[in-house]
Amino acid sequence: MAKKIVSDLNVKGKKVLIRVDFNVPMKNGVITDDTRVRAALPTIKWVIDNGGKAIVFSHLGRVKEASDIAKNDITPVAKRLEELIGKKVNFVNATRGKELEDGVAALKDGEILMFQNTRYEDFDVAANKETKKESKNDPELGAYWASLGDVFVNDAFGTAHRAAASNVGIAANVKETAAGFLLEKEIKFIGGAVDNPRRPYVAILGGAKVSDKIGVIEALIQKADKILVGGAMMFTFLKAQGVNTGASKVEDDKLDLAKELLAKANGKLVLPVDAITNKAFEDVPGVAKDVDKFADDDMGLDIGPKTLELFAKELAGAKTVVWNGPMGVFEFANYNKGTIGVCELLANLKDAATIIGGGDSAAAAEQLGYANKVSHISTGGGASLEYLEGKELPGIACVDEK
Ligand code: ADP
Ligand code: MG
Repeated sequence: MAKKIVSDLNVKGKKVLIRVDFNVPMKNGVITDDTRVRAALPTIKWVIDNGGKAIVFSHLGRVKEASDIAKNDITPVAKRLEELIGKKVNFVNATRGKELEDGVAALKDGEILMFQNTRYEDFDVAANKETKKESKNDPELGAYWASLGDVFVNDAFGTAHRAAASNVGIAANVKETAAGFLLEKEIKFIGGAVDNPRRPYVAILGGAKVSDKIGVIEALIQKADKILVGGAMMFTFLKAQGVNTGASKVEDDKLDLAKELLAKANGKLVLPVDAITNKAFEDVPGVAKDVDKFADDDMGLDIGPKTLELFAKELAGAKTVVWNGPMGVFEFANYNKGTIGVCELLANLKDAATIIGGGDSAAAAEQLGYANKVSHISTGGGASLEYLEGKELPGIACVDEK
């Protein structure tokens, strides 16, 4: 079954509630990266270009105590939206009440209103108490926001793995709910890889810890044809096989689990054959060593060139590739070659759906200049992992079928 998309809606003259993900990084009230605002433009534009009244809202950061309120004021994001979309954004500095309701009532077709951080509703200022009304999907709040509009468009993938008042709560109280274009793309690529991958289907997993990704590894062992492992987690698997991993980062309490996963994987898990090592966790040039030649003080900080060759062979001919987790400490220029190498391998695959999911791996691919050379970079870290696990995401489940 296919989900209803914003472009399936007749929005002319309607008040369209649009949940976006404007949870942008900020420093002292200044946006340091506006990718998420840019990414939401197509959906908002479609609504106003087709005569809808756009009511836009998002969470920003976490609001757990009084001091979080000023810190997470979303006003700068509304200003940035106005600059990027080139139209006035009527900002309402409230999440409910008369000013918001009057603002909505005054909207003309094709106009935009944005209201304050939805997570302001997580904290009751008068009672000086955390209430989590937004984050825990308080039914009254979802119904209230729903009452402000005629139809609902969810375009926030980053929070789709949690039921909040601003996604599931609203959807339960409006006649029609559709996915925005950004959510549509996540469903198409990640959902496609989960439900119906073209084969060979190769997964690449890296990053910090096995323990963060147990669910995904288990799911991929069932679904994928091969799973290539890099990042720090490779050393937990290698140690589980009895290899001396020296001073590399290992989760010693996960060795039994790693053994179990290796057994279950039945040869599908491909481990690195070499690594770039250093004697300390610092950004100075390292030495490539085969993984069975580590000294006790060797610390593996990246996969090595032989491993990249091995991965290239495993990836040849792949039709679906999902990648989560950097191959090494990509934040260090001396240890980013493995991650760059994998970006390069993905970029050069012909006729394959190449999907990057995960906070740091997505950031790495963008930072290293590969954002436009893969099919899809997911906009959600935790959400993309849970989606890959095959879990139903509440923020997607609440969207109507066509
Ligand atoms: P993602 O956010 O893509 O899921 P993770 O958060 O799991 O990725 O892991 C990213 C982190 O893993 C990065 O900060 C990176 O420096 C670290 N990392 C990768 N390889 C190693 C390694 N060999 N040793 C230590 N840290 C590593
Ligand atoms: Mg991360």
